[in-house]
Amino acid sequence: MKTINRRTFVKDTLQATAVVALGSGVLDAVTAKAATPALSFSQDALPYAYNALEPYIDTMTMEIHYSKHHVAYIKNVNDEISAKGIAYSNITDFFSNASKLSDKARNNGGGAFNHNFFWGSMKPGASVPSGKVAEALTQAFGSVDKFKEQFAAAATSRFGSGWAWLVNDKGTLKIGSTPNQDNPFMDLSPLQGNPLLALDVWEHAYYLKYQNKRADYITNWWSVVNWDAVANRLG
Ligand code: MN
Repeated sequence: MKTINRRTFVKDTLQATAVVALGSGVLDAVTAKAATPALSFSQDALPYAYNALEPYIDTMTMEIHYSKHHVAYIKNVNDEISAKGIAYSNITDFFSNASKLSDKARNNGGGAFNHNFFWGSMKPGASVPSGKVAEALTQAFGSVDKFKEQFAAAATSRFGSGWAWLVNDKGTLKIGSTPNQDNPFMDLSPLQGNPLLALDVWEHAYYLKYQNKRADYITNWWSVVNWDAVANRLG
């Protein structure tokens, strides 16, 4: 893996100073490498209040999930990017090389991205898929209800912590799940594709309100799915 750590950066910078007289080609190459900004994850603003998804997702769960769990993933991945000099400049390269990352970078990078995606997958007020989303789900899974059954089955059967996903894999809609904070962008994920919808089934996402009843959490979650976001992601 190509990395730039602080020592390399300083060395390159010194070399850049030293080669000024040697021709612009060498200097340009060194300067470009040193100037490439390292990837940094940031937390999206929550597009609704902590209590906006009541009663389906309770206020305390949302507050802890967003302000503690997600904040920690963001901090930890950025710390690891700095500590290890991880040089990928965008999340596509970062996740498509997940198999080469440290566990800390992979897990927290996944957590950073997945939660931003999750917040955007929900909104207050129940709605149903319509238009091209309803058509695409019907074509892929037989009906919207059959899609929901299969998605819920994927979310229910994920053993331990993880995520359920609807993805667009090169034009084909697929349902699957990933363990821990893995996602369908990661090279080591059996489920590949551009995510359209995601559901967090870690216990921290539902335990305060639902305890061991993950199936009830999943059933109620349909009442806060943001189908407009799914339509936008479908393109
Ligand atoms: Mn979570």
